[in-house]
Amino acid sequence: MKQKKPPARAKEPGLRPAGRAVRIIVGGVVQGVGFRPFLYRLADRFGYTGWVKNIGSGVEIHLESEKRTDFGPFFQALEKDKPPLVRVESLDFRPAANRGHSGFKIRKSEEGDSFVFISPDIATCRACRSEIADPGERRHRYPFTNCTDCGPRYTIVRSLPYDRPKTTMAGFKMCRDCRREYEDPADRRYHAQPIACPACGPQVSLKEAGSGKQIAGGIETAAGFIRKGKILAVKGLGGFHLVCNPLSPGAVRRLRAIKKRQRKPLALMARDIATVQEFAYVSPAERRVLLSANRPIVLLRKKKDIPGIAPHLDEVGFMLPYTPLHHLLLERLDLIVATSSNPKDAPIAKDESEGIAGLCDYILTHDRPIQTRADDSVLKLAGDGPLFLRRARGYVPYPQRVPAHLRRPEHILALGGELKDTISVYKNGYAITSQFLGDLNEYQNFRYFEETIAHLERLFDVRPQVVVSDLHPHFRTTRYAEKLGLPHFQVQHHYAHVLAVLLEHQIPEDRKVLGVALDGYGYGQDGGAWGGEFLLSDYLSFTRIAHFKPVPLPGGDRAAREPWRMALAYLREAYGEKIPAVPSLEKVNRKTRDSVLKMISSGMSSPLTSSCGRLFDAVSYLAGLAPLEVEFEAEAPLRLEAVSRQDFKVPYSYEFLTGGEPWQLSFAATIREIVGDVSRKATPERIGGAFHRTLAEAIASVCERVRELHGVAAVALVGGVFLNKTLLTMASRILQRKGFEVLRPRQYSPNDESISPGQIAYALARLKARR
Ligand SMILES: [Zn+2]
Ligand SMILES: [Zn+2]
Repeated sequence: MKQKKPPARAKEPGLRPAGRAVRIIVGGVVQGVGFRPFLYRLADRFGYTGWVKNIGSGVEIHLESEKRTDFGPFFQALEKDKPPLVRVESLDFRPAANRGHSGFKIRKSEEGDSFVFISPDIATCRACRSEIADPGERRHRYPFTNCTDCGPRYTIVRSLPYDRPKTTMAGFKMCRDCRREYEDPADRRYHAQPIACPACGPQVSLKEAGSGKQIAGGIETAAGFIRKGKILAVKGLGGFHLVCNPLSPGAVRRLRAIKKRQRKPLALMARDIATVQEFAYVSPAERRVLLSANRPIVLLRKKKDIPGIAPHLDEVGFMLPYTPLHHLLLERLDLIVATSSNPKDAPIAKDESEGIAGLCDYILTHDRPIQTRADDSVLKLAGDGPLFLRRARGYVPYPQRVPAHLRRPEHILALGGELKDTISVYKNGYAITSQFLGDLNEYQNFRYFEETIAHLERLFDVRPQVVVSDLHPHFRTTRYAEKLGLPHFQVQHHYAHVLAVLLEHQIPEDRKVLGVALDGYGYGQDGGAWGGEFLLSDYLSFTRIAHFKPVPLPGGDRAAREPWRMALAYLREAYGEKIPAVPSLEKVNRKTRDSVLKMISSGMSSPLTSSCGRLFDAVSYLAGLAPLEVEFEAEAPLRLEAVSRQDFKVPYSYEFLTGGEPWQLSFAATIREIVGDVSRKATPERIGGAFHRTLAEAIASVCERVRELHGVAAVALVGGVFLNKTLLTMASRILQRKGFEVLRPRQYSPNDESISPGQIAYALARLKARR
């Protein structure tokens, strides 16, 4: 999250009241992150008296000094030394009277009706880890050890202000020792709301899944079961993981059968960095992210492949332990599979009652309830920053500051799209985007969506006055929005992708950006299936200035699952009736092939699409890489990227058709040259490399033309296709060399998770324009 400088009036010394007392309201992520005890120690250091308390909108401080001062050095020290999780967004100074307080006190919290932020869940800190390891400490080997610098936050809080009775720790009565630490401002655990110890806190228990019978030995016995090849469900922060030994082919096979996923990559949790490095290459930047307090899954280039974990791909996802329970479990195991425990397409399970027993042999659980589900976040490093595949645990609910020109008094709810959905809420100058919610076509995920709306509204006291949804008339989110009876804005899918980047990068309102939005599918303004779009955009509107030349989508949705259909559609486009023989198409039975070709020629059940994702499907299939039917989204493009040479300089041909408007990019010539390469038995490395290069150069040629005609030199690379690091890197380099400013999502995923923040930006701009 970008840090906001204190407001101007706080910076000008004349406006910070000098005297013997001052009152300050601090806004930002300041509750539940050790801010008040820090202030206590700071006041002590400066010899100031007064008090601090949590209020609805943040923290209120009253400072008194014996001498007249503007308290300047105090605030410099505050900025410099504040605890790691604190994010100060605003400081509001007011003059105050000196009442002669003796000492500095931490006062009881006040409930408020305004906006207060809450920290994401934070991985176990170093101090807590050494305590767990120390036989002389009372928290020796205690799996729920935490302090003000670490531990659960977002996943346990029920409502604000963030105090213990409003978390799922409410049911645990502090013992005398914990109470003493909790009340001692000099203690590391002063007001650590989830504070716990073996005497008073949550406990783990191990059960046999089938019978529910308790088994002695807890974590250590569980580790033994995993080593023996059993499958365990392990309760973590945002839900249960399904865990097994990745080096046991039998266990991995069984886990895949249970999850009904034959090839979708499984994430691994390693004991330490050294273990990760045995199996994958780790750059210094990747190492920093792996070890960060956010602890996401980081996709790394494989060094030593473990069969069955990420088949046909060159990357594998690793994370490090992020709770004491994980640290203890991995003490005797180097590596585990840790994948979210859900039956296919359902949200991650947070309670045992959600069918956990049917998915495993044993359950390692505990009695601290999970309030909010959250999957592990997934990212990779691209260039100089993170590229999110999934933003959830450890990052949500960090707020997004909205540029001043867009701020509005209304509260707004944005519902996103349908696949890989998130929702966002807006209030008082900040947007908050939920964790990844999944595919809302699934009934259970839709309940998760409703549960998350209710939770964010309650947590941040948002009472929406406006709702925003996608343009698609049949999305469940659109129908949900219609039923709310609120003013309702609808935003085109790819435009929302572009808007999310404008918002994140705080683009001024009078500036236009060319959005290059490449993905699988979004409902177009003309009702068509868009997905290869060049949108000249500002906050209020866009022009579809160019797009990929549409091709038929034979069989509609089935074409997205069966890449050979797209191969046929592109061959038909490139060659007309006389389609050459391509080896990979021999795998499709002749009759099926002919009937699909007939579909394409007649246009029956073959809507047109400008999708870039589908072009990737076709090329991956023609190169002999894609399966007949994909198991998960982007499987075909991922396999193509996995083999592609990144340094490949010679592109295929393509056509940039500027005769009519919008302009079109045609890849028919590309397909013909790929077919030529395939018949000459060129390697997939070469075909993939040349194809990525072609796409990068085609993108750049459109951008150059737009700059010539419209003077727009900023380009936003958005949409799920830009999770392709090879394409993202190639396109960014070419564009930067040509003098473009390249914008891409950094705090959000380029995929459909960023639709809802984009929708917020649009609603704000519309509300402002309407005035
Ligand atoms: Zn700690
Ligand atoms: Zn205790």
